[in-house]
Amino acid sequence: PSVVIIGAGIAGIAAARALQDRGIEVTLLESSARIGGRIHTDKSSLTTPGGTAVPVDMGASWIHGATPGHNPIATAALDVLQLATHQTAGEGSLLYDHDVQRGFALYTRDGVRIPRDTVRQFESWFRAAVEAERRDARYESDASLEDTINRMVAEHKLQGSVDEEILGFYVCRIEGWFAADSSRISPKSWIEEEFHEGGHLLVSKGYSQLVESLARGIDIRLGHRAVRVTQQMPGLGICSKPHVQVSCKNGIEIRADAAIVAVPLGILQSNVIDFQPELPEWKRDAISSLEVGHQNKIALLFESLFWDEDAEFLGCATGAPRGCSYFLSLYPTLRRAVLVYMPVGELSRRIERMGDEEATAFAMEKVRAMLPGAPDPVSSLISRWSLDENFLCCYSNDPSPNGSDLFERMAMPASELLYFAGEASSPDFSGTVHGAYESGVAAAEQIVESLS
Ligand SMILES: Cc1cc2nc3c(=O)[nH]c(=O)nc-3n(C[C@H](O)[C@H](O)[C@H](O)COP(=O)(O)OP(=O)(O)OC[C@H]3O[C@@H](n4cnc5c(N)ncnc54)[C@H](O)[C@@H]3O)c2cc1C
Repeated sequence: PSVVIIGAGIAGIAAARALQDRGIEVTLLESSARIGGRIHTDKSSLTTPGGTAVPVDMGASWIHGATPGHNPIATAALDVLQLATHQTAGEGSLLYDHDVQRGFALYTRDGVRIPRDTVRQFESWFRAAVEAERRDARYESDASLEDTINRMVAEHKLQGSVDEEILGFYVCRIEGWFAADSSRISPKSWIEEEFHEGGHLLVSKGYSQLVESLARGIDIRLGHRAVRVTQQMPGLGICSKPHVQVSCKNGIEIRADAAIVAVPLGILQSNVIDFQPELPEWKRDAISSLEVGHQNKIALLFESLFWDEDAEFLGCATGAPRGCSYFLSLYPTLRRAVLVYMPVGELSRRIERMGDEEATAFAMEKVRAMLPGAPDPVSSLISRWSLDENFLCCYSNDPSPNGSDLFERMAMPASELLYFAGEASSPDFSGTVHGAYESGVAAAEQIVESLS
C-alpha cells in the first residue's frame, strides 16, 4: 500500500515515520524549500560582527511537558537524541513557559524594575483567583477570557496600580500562549487546559535537530505545493481501484491508496487546495469555525549583555495587555546576548507588515522602555508566519466559550481515502509540537486500520 502526505511539518513527518515503520510506501510533499514547518531553527541569519552565527528558533521554542514517556517529543529529544535543553519553568506555572521562582526582570511602564516579592505576591493572588474560578466554574457563563479576568479583578480586590500592571503582563502572556487577543480566548480552554508532566524546556541549539532526525530516510519532495486532491471513490462508476491523486503546482501528480493532509489551518481556510469531491460539510464547518492565531518573533543579537544575566525573561507591565511586552532572554541558554520579542494577535499582524528596519526599531523601542540607553542590536531577524504563503497563521485557536468538537472534527477522516493531521487536528494539545506529532501518529494508525 502507498500513502501520500501533504506537508512536512512535525505532523506529516510523524505520520510518515509511523507508516513507513509498518511497511507502507510513503511520499511526503512539501511546498517550501525546507522541512519542519513551524519548527524552524534559523542557523545563519543572526550573526556576530565576527561572523559567528547564533541559532534561534523562529517557530516553536519549548517542549511543553519535559517527562519522557509522557510527552513523545520529550522522549525523542531527551532519551533518544539526548539533546541539550534548558528548563525555564516547572509544573503548574501560571505564565506557562516561565515561573516566577526563577530569574526574571519585570518593569513598570516608567521603566522601574518591579521587586520580585511584589510579583510573587501578585502571583499568589492570581493563583487563588484562578483556583476559585476552577472550583466554582463561574467562567462557564463568560463569553471570553477578557470577561473572566474583569470579573476576577472585581471580585478579588487587587492591591494597587502595580498589581494591575502585572496583571496586564500575565494576560499578555496568556495571549501569547493562545496566539490570540483575550477577547478571542475561550475561558474554558484557559482554565481547564491540561499539560504533559514535567515543566517546560528550551532546546538549547534549536528545535530543528529533532525534525531533521525524525525525517531521515523518508521520501520528501521539497518545492511540491499541492493544489488539488482528487479522490477516486468506490461506487462512482470507476473501474480502477479507489485511490487519491494529488496534483502539485509544478505539474507533478502523485497517486496513492490514501492521503494525509497535514498543512496548517491557515492554508485550509484559504482554499489553496482544491478538494475533489468537495470536503463534507461537517469538515468545512470545522475548518472555517476555528480561528487562526497570530504570533511572531523578532530576535535581537547584541554585542554584549546589558541586562540581568539570570533573567529568563524581560517584560514591560503596563496594565493593558496590548501595551505590555515580553522578551525571552537566550543568555541563560546560549550564553549569547539575544532577546526574542514575541508580539501577539493584531499587534503581531501589524508588525509583520512592517519592513525589517521598522520592525526592529519597534522592538527596540520596547527594550528601551525597560532599559533606557540600550544599544542597537548588531543583528536582527523577524518572522512573518501569517504572511508566509506556506502557513498563513501561527496556530489554531477555538474561541468557543464553552468548548466545542471542532478539533475532534478536524482530526476525523473525510473518507476512507482522506485523512487529516496537524496541530489543529489535536483535540487535547492544539497549537503545540507534541499535539501535532500525536495527530500525525493518530492519522497513520487510522490508515493502517482501514487498510488491514
Ligand atoms: C511563533 C511560534 C511559536 C511557537 N511556539 C511553540 C512552542 O514553544 N512549543 C510548542 O510546542 N509549539 C509551539 N508552536 C506551535 C508549533 O510550532 C506547531 O503547533 C507545530 O509545529 C505545527 O506542526 P504541523 O506539522 O501541524 O504544521 P507545520 O509545521 O506548519 O507543517 C505544515 C507544512 O505544510 C507545508 N505546506 C503548506 N501548504 C502546503 C501545500 N499546499 N502543499 C504542500 N505542503 C504545504 C508547510 O510549508 C509546512 O511545512 C509555535 C508556533 C509558532 C508559529
